[in-house]
Amino acid sequence: MAGWRHIFLVTDIEGVAGVESWEQTQSGPRHEAAKALATDEVNSVIRALLGPPDIPGPTLLRISVWDGHGCGGLLPERLDRRVTFYRHDDARNFTGLLRESLRGEVPVDALGFVGQHAMEGSGGTLSHTYSSRRIRSYKLNGRPIGEFDLRALYAWALAKIPTVFFSGDNVACNEAQSLVPGILRVQVKESLSLTSARHLEPAHACTRLTDSAKQILERDLSDPSLRPSFFPEPPFEFRKHFKLKFGFVPRPPQTLRGDSLTAVLGKE
Ligand SMILES: [Zn+2]
Repeated sequence: MAGWRHIFLVTDIEGVAGVESWEQTQSGPRHEAAKALATDEVNSVIRALLGPPDIPGPTLLRISVWDGHGCGGLLPERLDRRVTFYRHDDARNFTGLLRESLRGEVPVDALGFVGQHAMEGSGGTLSHTYSSRRIRSYKLNGRPIGEFDLRALYAWALAKIPTVFFSGDNVACNEAQSLVPGILRVQVKESLSLTSARHLEPAHACTRLTDSAKQILERDLSDPSLRPSFFPEPPFEFRKHFKLKFGFVPRPPQTLRGDSLTAVLGKE
């Protein structure tokens, strides 16, 4: 595991096996059950990297886990205790936590995504871009980008942090590969529509995640295939298109421009 010291996992709930309805992503008993599925998937990745939870003692590898689902997507009390966990409502958010890690003792070496969904309009199960009700599309210098792209590009722009691991449905996996060709991908379900999918049985999904995540530490962090294949030249133009829906005040498209990609994307 030469060079590996700290991996930062971004987690979400819509890309987890067994999750296919909006009801499972918002508050209520079905949401709690979905959080348990998501936590099991994240633990499967952690255990691939650190070994079984009953192996005591310090680990050479630091793992940070940020719950990236808007209203919370994990059960912290069920999460492997060897990681540093950041709640979904941590005010520092993804960008702040990543910046903070660069000032810390052990800066983040690489990103991984577990349970991530595809972008709005992609055909993926529960696909959306940040707000399923408000956002129609995000484009960076003309290319449509989703949540995965935005975060992977931000990390690379900030400190050349590569992205090594991804799990979700087939559409989301393709999206990840299209930006980061060499990323390790685990497909845990096949999208049939926005609210239906053909799922792996949860235990099977967890086994696949563990098997694939074991390969993470074999990856060379300087491998060019782990860099974003799309990285535009400045000046940067980030366009947001909003949906015009009954009950919401229509908002005009918004365009942010700048020479620093982190400054433009960090406005998120
Ligand atoms: Zn989410």
